[in-house]
Amino acid sequence: MKASDKALRVGLTFDDVLLVPRLSDVKSRKDSDTKSRFSRGIHLSIPVVSANMDTVTESAMAIAMARLGGIGVIHRFLSVEEQVSEVIKVKRSESVVIEDPITLGPEKTIAEAWDMIGRHDIGGIVIVDPRKKVLGLVTRRDIILEDDSSRKLGDVMTPRRDLVTAPRGVKLDKAKELLRKNKIEKLPLVDKSGRLAGLITSKDIMKRRQFPSATKDSKGRLRVAAAVGVRGDYMQRAVKLVEAGADALVVDIAHGHSTYAIDTLKAIKKEFRSVDVVAGNVATSRGAADLIRAGADAVKVGVGSGSICITRVVTGSGVPQLTAIIDSARGAKDFDVPVIGDGGIRNPGDVTKALAAGASTVMIGSLFAGTEESPGPTILRDGVRYKLTRGMASLAASVGRKIREEKTQGSKQDELIEGVIEESVPEGVEGLIPYKGRVEEVVKQLVGGLRSGMSYSGARSLVQLQKKAEFMMITSAGHKESLPHDIKRVM
Ligand code: 5GP
Repeated sequence: MKASDKALRVGLTFDDVLLVPRLSDVKSRKDSDTKSRFSRGIHLSIPVVSANMDTVTESAMAIAMARLGGIGVIHRFLSVEEQVSEVIKVKRSESVVIEDPITLGPEKTIAEAWDMIGRHDIGGIVIVDPRKKVLGLVTRRDIILEDDSSRKLGDVMTPRRDLVTAPRGVKLDKAKELLRKNKIEKLPLVDKSGRLAGLITSKDIMKRRQFPSATKDSKGRLRVAAAVGVRGDYMQRAVKLVEAGADALVVDIAHGHSTYAIDTLKAIKKEFRSVDVVAGNVATSRGAADLIRAGADAVKVGVGSGSICITRVVTGSGVPQLTAIIDSARGAKDFDVPVIGDGGIRNPGDVTKALAAGASTVMIGSLFAGTEESPGPTILRDGVRYKLTRGMASLAASVGRKIREEKTQGSKQDELIEGVIEESVPEGVEGLIPYKGRVEEVVKQLVGGLRSGMSYSGARSLVQLQKKAEFMMITSAGHKESLPHDIKRVM
């Protein structure tokens, strides 16, 4: 059949539709339950995921997302060691018991302790001998006023005899009591022969209270996902990421409905049984079903939907995001595998629409790129603060990647950049996004809008939302009417 013989389907996106309000018995938006699933085995309190982009998700964003009840995907445009270190920072950021605390020997110096404290963002270090026998503890407080950074930790530590410790396997309540009674912040756990068996900190206990909906693993550590590609060192990278504690791998390729992506996915699934593997991106029912048959534990949906993306303009290919979600969710339904609506979220209402269309979560890029937790500094332009956002297939990202891989400098670097510019057909762009403060505030708006949206559809849960939602296609006049109009807006 020729292309011209095929009936043309209509593809819709968020601004093309509205959800029709219906009878609701939801009294308050607090009554709307936003629990969802990122992947087959990873449950979330809020259906929000931060994107695997180098201007969006490294450890700070992933920690914030997991604390709020979502999850972050650490991008892969780092060396393996750097990406692994970002995963470790998330996994170490809090836990019930830190099973493998950071340690140093007594012969090390205060300077080395500061380096460790800075690198791992921790408050103290347990001092041990080569057999891991606990000798003492050094905290920030012990060394903050020390002028001589060459002093040995053995001379400045709180020695074992003055240290409050607890046996391995101590109950959390008992540990809390010991911390409270002794007015201390760190409780090393020791086994029968005095060897270090773990660490409980008051900071972790406080965090449990502060973030009751956090996304955590069975050991009380925050959950995090990490992206891998389909070429080169992807398997070695995946092995290291899983060893570091990544809870899910995200096989990340622009055109996920390809034999290349399917083969990679199969290979990764064969290697790792303990972690969920997310795959994408696709935009069709068949694409979603094929990835799930190849083993995907969630499917990422979105081709050309991203704010920094020019795939549709450059290639002529893509599917408007609402239709992409509806079709892909249909393909995934029989397998009971969640779909992630990736890209194109501009307003809280888009989140409700994406979920009503069948997505279990939304992945967000640029909307989060302007927050405090995204990588990179703020930039001041005409008195306004901005942060950078860029497509991972943009020229700037390709150049950055090449420079990092080849580690060149000077004229060699110029040649390299020229080479990338000549060869590259970018499918992404770079831009500034106004600085928005902490990501928590942005998430609050998104989830607040979602909860209200659910109540307009008479839904107490996301499952109900998907069952009850009725979309209505609107005209451009209807869309215009949806925006503030006929006023001079002051806020
Ligand atoms: P946003 O939330 O900014 O609208 O979309 C984020 C998503 O855009 C990402 O999760 C990713 O799927 C997609 N994306 C990121 N960089 C690029 C790019 O350079 N080109 C394309 N086509 N998509 C991109």
